[in-house]
Amino acid sequence: MPLRAKVASSVSRTAAALSRAAGRGDGSVIGGWLGLKIDPDLLAHLSAGRAIALISGTNGKTTTTRLAAAAVSALGKVATNSFGANMPTGHTSALAKAGSTPYAVLEVDEHYLAQVIEATEPHVVALLNLSRDQLDRAKEVAMMAQLWRAALARHPDVRIVANADDPMVVWAATPPAAHDQRIAPPHVTWFSAGQRWHDDSWVCPECGATIQRSGQQWWCTGCPLRRPDPQWTVDDDEGVVDPTGAWYKVKLQLPGKVNIGNAATALAVAAEFGVRPFDAVPRLADVTSVAGRYAQVVRDGRTIRLLLAKNPASWLEAFDMADEAPTLLSINARDPDGLDTSWLFDVDFAPLRGRQVLITGDRAYDLAVRLDVNDVPFQHIRTFDEAVRAVPPGRLEVIANYTAFQDIRAELDRVN
Ligand SMILES: [Zn+2]
Repeated sequence: MPLRAKVASSVSRTAAALSRAAGRGDGSVIGGWLGLKIDPDLLAHLSAGRAIALISGTNGKTTTTRLAAAAVSALGKVATNSFGANMPTGHTSALAKAGSTPYAVLEVDEHYLAQVIEATEPHVVALLNLSRDQLDRAKEVAMMAQLWRAALARHPDVRIVANADDPMVVWAATPPAAHDQRIAPPHVTWFSAGQRWHDDSWVCPECGATIQRSGQQWWCTGCPLRRPDPQWTVDDDEGVVDPTGAWYKVKLQLPGKVNIGNAATALAVAAEFGVRPFDAVPRLADVTSVAGRYAQVVRDGRTIRLLLAKNPASWLEAFDMADEAPTLLSINARDPDGLDTSWLFDVDFAPLRGRQVLITGDRAYDLAVRLDVNDVPFQHIRTFDEAVRAVPPGRLEVIANYTAFQDIRAELDRVN
């Protein structure tokens, strides 16, 4: 590395370590920020010589990144931003801290994907899904897909691992002028991980016609855009089928079919580095919870499990993962959550009928109105301890959005 980059990298590491020592989080944002101030090209310098995978999408990217890093570690040391710092400051910090690893698997905020592709020249980019998120500031889904598509078209050599079940992702992964011979066809590997949420992809991003669905298939009624045949698929809730048709039993410590889908994606990403599923699958079982997500804690005879859900698509997945048990819902609307809670009306809370439902959080009353409209009885509680006391011994499921989740995690002594 050039001298300037070496200095910047060293400052980044030191600042992150000081910040950690001062108990101010994991320090990756401040460390990366300082490093990039000293050398704006630091991320590119730190990326040079490494084979890198970028993982982006609205939901599931933290968990998929963790699983993919575990899978790729079959080959050697892997740098990764495991604490969810998914902007260039976090990537810079993660690579500076890791030293010279041959591989890196980085979670990327969907808004920064184009910029991070430019800086890191990745070997592979995984595109998970696109759905509405943080209504007050996020881009419209179709605009996001357009940005991804333009970024990938500028890098036709990047290998793409993309979700065949999400029309927006399929469109983003297909080059703007597929008929144009000057643009090489992209190297795309399609996976199918299922998709419960369809409300952001009823309109074709290519031509504006309606998208129709039947079973797993979807197609545009106005142009050739349709679901490609996936090479990696999920089979009967615990298996993943690879492109040769071989079936692998995937034992995870993470709940839900959505995580089997994340595992399939991770295996497809690792395969782009030459890792065989046979070698990668056992490593996936070592991943327990991810930054508190899915963590289980026992308190006063209640087994409490934490599920993070930030937007309508992830709430649907959380309802699927949660057991039929008393459930605490917590909603905040602080800066990291987005300030607009009207998305609560995009979620169908009917699956909670028949369960004991408790609500809390800064915006519990927004949740109360929504549940009332959905005919779901609930009880408002003010503290987490009150929630624990309000349910019988046994399981308590907690579903919370970002800062509400962090508050409850803090109550449980920053459980990982
Ligand atoms: Zn169309």
